[in-house]
Amino acid sequence: MAKKSDARGVIYLACTACQERNYTSSKNRKNDTQRLELNKYCPRCRSQKLHRETK
Ligand SMILES: [Zn+2]
Repeated sequence: MAKKSDARGVIYLACTACQERNYTSSKNRKNDTQRLELNKYCPRCRSQKLHRETK
């Protein structure tokens, strides 16, 4: 019964400045093959930083 979660993989959003993984998300790998990049608050940098998808 893992069919639904096959296409939607769990991803981590890591700060590009300090590499800290601050957020988790999920996305559809088929519809969305590029890496997610979001501006999010990083508690370690204590400011908004670009967060990039990692596994
Ligand atoms: Zn950071």
